[in-house]
Amino acid sequence: MSIKINKDKCLGCGKCKEICPGNLIYIDKNKKAFIKYPKDCWGCTSCVKECPVHAVDFYLGADIGGMGSLMHTEKNGDILSWIIKKSDGETTRIDINTKESNKY
Ligand code: SF4
Ligand code: SF4
Repeated sequence: MSIKINKDKCLGCGKCKEICPGNLIYIDKNKKAFIKYPKDCWGCTSCVKECPVHAVDFYLGADIGGMGSLMHTEKNGDILSWIIKKSDGETTRIDINTKESNKY
C-alpha cells in the first residue's frame, strides 16, 4: 500500500505530514510533500482525507482488486466523496454523509 502526492497541486500546508501516524511524510525545500518510506505505509488513508486540495492519491493494489487504480477524496460540506479512477479509465464515486456515518 502507498500513496502518490501530486506536487503540482500540493500547497505545502503540512496537514498530511501532521496526521500520518507513521511519520512517513515530509515537506521538501520547495514546500512540497513527499513520502519517504512508501513501503511502510499501512493504508490508513488519513492523509488522503486531510489534504485540502486533493493532492494525495491512494493506490488500490492488486491484493484488494484495485489493479493499480487510484483513489482520492473530495469534501463538500458534510459529504465526503471517495473517487476511484480505475486503470481502464472508468471512474467510480462513493458519497458518504460524515454526519451519519457513525449513526448506527
Ligand atoms: S495512508 Fe496513512 S500511513 Fe500511509 S502515508 Fe497516508 S497517513 Fe501515512
Ligand atoms: S495536505 Fe495536501 S497540500 Fe498539504 S502538504 Fe500534504 S499534499 Fe500538500
